[in-house]
Amino acid sequence: MSSAILVVGGGFAGLTAAIEAAELGHDVYIVEKAPFLGGRVAQLNKYFPKLCPPSCGLEIQFQRIRNNPRIKFFTLAEVTGLKGGKGNYTAEITLQPRHTAPHAVDLGFFASGLTGETTSDFEFGLATRKALYKSTPFAFPSRYVLDTKTLSPEDRAKVVTNKFLDLNETEKKIELQVGAIVVATGWQPYDAERLSNLGAGNVKNCITNMQFERIASPYGPTKGRITRLSDGVAPKRVAFVQCAGSRDQNHLNYCSYVCCMASIKQCQYVIEALPDAHCDVFYIDLRTPGRYVKVLDKARASGNVSFIKGKVANVQQIEGDRVRIQAEDAVRGEKLTLDYDMVVLATGMRPSLATQATPLPLPLDEEGFIAGGEEAGIFAAGCALMPLDVTRTAQTGTAAALKAVQVVEGR
Ligand code: SF4
Repeated sequence: MSSAILVVGGGFAGLTAAIEAAELGHDVYIVEKAPFLGGRVAQLNKYFPKLCPPSCGLEIQFQRIRNNPRIKFFTLAEVTGLKGGKGNYTAEITLQPRHTAPHAVDLGFFASGLTGETTSDFEFGLATRKALYKSTPFAFPSRYVLDTKTLSPEDRAKVVTNKFLDLNETEKKIELQVGAIVVATGWQPYDAERLSNLGAGNVKNCITNMQFERIASPYGPTKGRITRLSDGVAPKRVAFVQCAGSRDQNHLNYCSYVCCMASIKQCQYVIEALPDAHCDVFYIDLRTPGRYVKVLDKARASGNVSFIKGKVANVQQIEGDRVRIQAEDAVRGEKLTLDYDMVVLATGMRPSLATQATPLPLPLDEEGFIAGGEEAGIFAAGCALMPLDVTRTAQTGTAAALKAVQVVEGR
């Protein structure tokens, strides 16, 4: 019987679960696939309920992890094998090399001298990054990662002379003994390029909601200036297309829960930065659970946001890098053709496990959400379980931690 707990995933749910279990006196291992902790929240400009920037909200979690010797975390790490059973698992963890020295030296100046650039996944393709990088200034761990696959020959020649970089570091495997497991593997934005009628990927200035978060972020590709990517001009008319892929049996056959609130929040980004701009939100239903309805009321009262009940049929490029929307107005029974400077698709969330294999013995439902595992001492948290906002994600992290603690304490 092991009293340690494994947390798979270092996003908000996983961090919460790890901190709760460690603060109850258990050793916890966090295993995160990415080079940095924080998950999707780290990519947001602000998040509900208080509209905090992630540099504030996540920093509190990172501080609790730094100060708790019971928590060990592994980045660039994945569970690649699992033996044993409830109360006594041996997890095989595969660690990809980071190629940078573990003790912090500021490699920022050296990184800025590299010339090669590659597309940044963290910025959803809206910007490039160097081969040696941190995702944000507040990234945790605050340690650069060297992506050798994208290193240009010229940069490689510079890297070999730097004693804090190690091109020879290789993949490693370790084993962890744990009694219970929390799975918080999170979500992926739905691939908007599958929505061919909605224009993502081939219509300039038609972007996804997660891309818009990066544009609004002070650490993103426009340093927080709300501009069209095609020409850097501030938009005067912005449309938000709700349920882009969600509630559609050909794509995601469920409501993604957060994207109505995300669009209303993003309307606020627009009108706070550009008081003369106007936003139209095309929706089927507006989902603003509980007290979030106040945020909708505020947007309505601003006079800068209109809500149009109707499904968008088509998004097209027109002259001047503008974007044309054809939709129905379900209230008036009219067909609408309206032109915008920028269109934001409210794409939904797909559980990561829908497209990624795992050695964990987890039953998934037909959409890829975790639908069991508790009898094996494995507990799901966050958006691996269902679409959730950050508050509820944290609550499921706490709940999963308490269930895992009950297992390792033999209760
Ligand atoms: Fe559609 Fe709103 Fe549900 Fe998202 S939250 S799927 S936009 S109804």
